[in-house]
Amino acid sequence: MNTFIETGLQDEILKAIQDLGYEKPTPIQAKTISHLLQTENDLMALAQTGTGKTAAFGLPTLQKVAPANKATQVLILAPTRELALQITADMQKFAKYIKGINIVPVYGGASIENQIKDLKKGAQIVVATPGRAKDLLNRGRLKIDQINTLILDEADEMLTMGFKDELDAILAKTPQDKQTLLFSATMSKEVERISKNYMHNTEKISVAAENKGAETVEHIYHMVNAKHRYEVLKRIADMNPDIYGIVFCRTRRETKDVAAKLMSDGYNADALHGDMSQSQRDYVMKRFRNKQLQLLVATDVAARGLDVNNLTHVINYNLPDQTEYYTHRSGRTGRAGKKGTSIAIIHTREKNKLRDIERASKIRFTQKQVPNGAEICSNQLMSLTDKVVNTKVDNHQIEPFLEEIYHKFEHLSKEEVIKHFVSTEFNRFLNYYKNAKDINASENTRDKKSVKERRNNHEFTRLFLNVGKKENLTPLRLIGIINNALDSGNVEIGKIEILKNFSFFEIDSKAAGQLVQKIGSEKFEGRDLSVEVANPGNGGGERSRKRDKRKRTKSFETSKGRNRSGRRR
Ligand code: AMP
Repeated sequence: MNTFIETGLQDEILKAIQDLGYEKPTPIQAKTISHLLQTENDLMALAQTGTGKTAAFGLPTLQKVAPANKATQVLILAPTRELALQITADMQKFAKYIKGINIVPVYGGASIENQIKDLKKGAQIVVATPGRAKDLLNRGRLKIDQINTLILDEADEMLTMGFKDELDAILAKTPQDKQTLLFSATMSKEVERISKNYMHNTEKISVAAENKGAETVEHIYHMVNAKHRYEVLKRIADMNPDIYGIVFCRTRRETKDVAAKLMSDGYNADALHGDMSQSQRDYVMKRFRNKQLQLLVATDVAARGLDVNNLTHVINYNLPDQTEYYTHRSGRTGRAGKKGTSIAIIHTREKNKLRDIERASKIRFTQKQVPNGAEICSNQLMSLTDKVVNTKVDNHQIEPFLEEIYHKFEHLSKEEVIKHFVSTEFNRFLNYYKNAKDINASENTRDKKSVKERRNNHEFTRLFLNVGKKENLTPLRLIGIINNALDSGNVEIGKIEILKNFSFFEIDSKAAGQLVQKIGSEKFEGRDLSVEVANPGNGGGERSRKRDKRKRTKSFETSKGRNRSGRRR
């Protein structure tokens, strides 16, 4: 299907999408629009953001709405407020030439009273987040017993976000003879369960192979030591003066730290994370959409449903914990046929994770070297030069000042003027990158070397942990405990020894104190955890371990005695 006319859409809708500049249907639109206009069968579509899925379900749905009937005829469920608002805005644009259609968004974090007022006016199409929809249904303010179309957008996200109970409650209240459309970027067991329990005669389509987004996104990775992550990020930003992108972090704390560092280093950046109020989030989003911010540092959760076009880059400051999140992240660039770049900053032990993502997302990463100082300076200089050459000159405005300026430049030749001007703008960069080191890491040698370097510098601290094999502790679970307590996946961990009743491990000394403090609030297999600095004299051999154990037992008895009686027994 090569044109929208062939899909059978009515003139008013064709006119609206012409206004939006849509020339031909995207693959998912070509597959879904006529299906929805011609059959009553349910439809499950595997498609991610950026494929044009909103129009794929929105255009035919709109055509089926009867404007004269004020009852709610279509319910669209979406995981986040941002996505619900985006869908509403898109639907309103599609409905521009159809009179009498009211599209109302309802979502959490905003006044329910106002939303009830909006619903009372009659909303043929309601776009809702699951929590708020359930609340309004329970209050009898949202009525869905007459809907003929139910759309579940980003169904996998809704389930990952824990909306399973809400979805079950809402779906159970919908009429039997409706058409259900389910859109999901990934196919999980839970998504299949929804389709099995609530959908009938379901046709399945997938546009993953033809996904325009994936085709236009270049996936690259830089491999460095974990401690150089931030330096890489800066170099990426400096290498691309017109960068407009999202930097994905794994935790709120990391998001705050990275954004704060970028801001203090003079970049147009800000953070978006779950600790912010809705109005703070709206403010940051507005500045990002208006391009007042070039870099938005965000967690996956905060960035869900965020729909911003024309992003040049998506930067994975840390790889996501769940493989499929990479698809969501990178799908935010390379939209509507434009080129985009998704960069993963990884350390040497993350190569396997990268391979998992490649397999799951059917993409290929290319390793690229972190740009060096000379490349960055050259790019910046050329960008600056282009800006100067292309700047519009308002002769009239500058005329009165020119004579004095010419006079000041009199003793300089044209070449010298250019050199002075470039240096004024550029010395900061040249100085910063003058002695910039090669921070690329090679897979085989670097890790051992870096650990050794740290050992020589005594940067590791050996710690004692009060659980061991008896509690089924494994090195992987220990790393999990440490990352959890520190809310970071970055800390360097050295040698790990797991013994029957307790364990020893080495950790970057800078993080040791914080870990000792924080681990006290963590539990493992029902036991309260505690960490102490191990006796520095202990080399880790069998005899010294026994000595360590004796000492430890003694010190526990001692502290116990103190706690009970206030003095040593
Ligand atoms: P979506 O996947 O619905 O988030 O759409 C991604 C972007 O593609 C949005 O900015 C749409 O406006 C745009 N878009 C959707 N369909 C088309 C089309 N047929 N031609 C050009 N752009 C489109």
